[in-house]
Amino acid sequence: MKRKPGPSTLAVHGTPARRSDWTPVTTPIFQSSTFTNPVGSDEQVMYSRYGNNPNQVSLAGRYALLEGTEAALFVSSGMAATALAHLAVLRPGDHLLSSSWIYGGTRRLFEEEFGRLGIDVSYVNPDQPRQWRRSVRKSTRAVFVETPTNPLARVVDLTPMAQIARDSGLALMVDATFASPINFRPVEHGADIVITSATKYLNGHSDVVAGAVAASASIIEEVTRLMTLWGQPIDPHAAWLVERGLKTLSLRMARHNLNGMAVARWAETQDAFTRVHYPGLPSHPDHALATQLLDGFGGMVGLELKGGTRTVERFLKKLRLVTHAPSLAGVESLISEPRLTSHAALSQDERLTLGIPDGFVRLSCGIEDADDIIADLAQAAG
Ligand SMILES: *Cc1c(COP(=O)(O)O)cnc(C)c1O
Repeated sequence: MKRKPGPSTLAVHGTPARRSDWTPVTTPIFQSSTFTNPVGSDEQVMYSRYGNNPNQVSLAGRYALLEGTEAALFVSSGMAATALAHLAVLRPGDHLLSSSWIYGGTRRLFEEEFGRLGIDVSYVNPDQPRQWRRSVRKSTRAVFVETPTNPLARVVDLTPMAQIARDSGLALMVDATFASPINFRPVEHGADIVITSATKYLNGHSDVVAGAVAASASIIEEVTRLMTLWGQPIDPHAAWLVERGLKTLSLRMARHNLNGMAVARWAETQDAFTRVHYPGLPSHPDHALATQLLDGFGGMVGLELKGGTRTVERFLKKLRLVTHAPSLAGVESLISEPRLTSHAALSQDERLTLGIPDGFVRLSCGIEDADDIIADLAQAAG
């Protein structure tokens, strides 16, 4: 019987196979827009907009193995992945049922663009799981969920949506960027399509913007067709960098998980923070669910500082190791204020309703030594 390799092995090797002599150990960079093709051949040509550049193919294969899907496709950003995955399953006149806990960019895509394509979007608060079935219409074709969420790290149980998707023949689409396939694999819980911002944990080094879709071969074929027409392939060099990042994904996630937990536990004992949001803490509303569903709680920690925006500014200016920058999931610890970044489009009241008061900071714990991250936070809060 053939053993199925573990995720660390898959991330390093793809499907392990004996190499022939005198071949490169890593995938070389094919920095070429086009490739020679046989005269008179009617086979598809090789062209880097078609997703068939060897770097694009190699990376996609490796990622599909990690998600446990038949196929995958990398594109030029997480937003490109979200847009193309939705366009692959929705037509004018269709309805999309979305979780209301989603990334700001995704929300804007739905609000500003889908309407003029004739796609109607409505929202369900995952805190009310019974609303999913009640909100399905005759025209509903897909359900979109993000888990864990930004910035509160809420963990959504996919069971009710997966059931509805199966019963009614809908596509269940999940953005699991915050977990990476090391911590959570949506297809194991009934998802049909996985969307990820590879800018975040997959690449992990804050030096590439990229995205990916993982699904059945037929869905990926349709996403690929759309990509060749709308034109958002990943560049070969970026693909090569993400593949290199992927090799250490499992190791990095192990450290992100440890650091997130250490920082959250420490912060909970500090007077400077009125509340700490981390799914690994028993005080988190989804702690039980997260323990059951996730293989790790990740590196994202939400902190509420006592004293509001003025205190936050003083705190952020005193930080030395933890860097004030948007984005997340890189090897270096980053911190940002959702009120000025991901949730800037909302009013103060709307943010409060979502559980993001002024004074809230989102910390992405990197892979530094946890004691050093803690020491930096302590001196800045003191
Ligand atoms: C960052 C992010 C995106 C968008 O990804 P880009 O690579 O910046 O286009 C989508 N979803 C989630 C959850 C994200 O964190």
